[in-house]
Amino acid sequence: MDRELLARRLNRRGEPAYRAEQVWRWAAGGAADYTAMTNLPAPLRGELEREVPFSTLEVEREAKARDGTVKALFRTREGHAVEAVLMRYRDGRRSLCLSSQSGCPLTCSFCATGQMRFGRNLTASDILDQALHFRRLEPVDHAVFMGMGEPMLNFDSVMRPPGCCPTSASRTAARRSRR
Ligand code: SF4
Repeated sequence: MDRELLARRLNRRGEPAYRAEQVWRWAAGGAADYTAMTNLPAPLRGELEREVPFSTLEVEREAKARDGTVKALFRTREGHAVEAVLMRYRDGRRSLCLSSQSGCPLTCSFCATGQMRFGRNLTASDILDQALHFRRLEPVDHAVFMGMGEPMLNFDSVMRPPGCCPTSASRTAARRSRR
């Protein structure tokens, strides 16, 4: 979800300031789409449906392992591949492995992502939508940027408060800066 686009649309429509937060609470709580947001007026929900895509990513494929791990392959609107994983631990923790880029320009020889063509840096919305996809399955505890790409090469988007996992993003960056 592009939260800046959402804010612009709500503002243009003259909606009260709390609307953006209402929408965000539903999205961050795992709502499947705008129709679930029952405390928003129906005409507004319809307008958002048309003007603010609920996700910037399309799910192309999803695979579930016997241990409950779920791996998703998304496509951006221009067709760039994005992978993310939900890891389910026996103690109940749920961890997300997110991508910061489509492909990776560093081309490490041991890495499958490094062998594919670099697409682009992901936007903050692309990153957020990976997390929200899995949040629609169940609550998650934290996230790491160990999917496609080198997060330090897309620092601004990775560090822009994604809303659902700001602490995780900060920890990842802090860990990497200590290396
Ligand atoms: S994703 Fe990581 S391991 Fe793979 S090419 Fe990029 S920097 Fe190297």
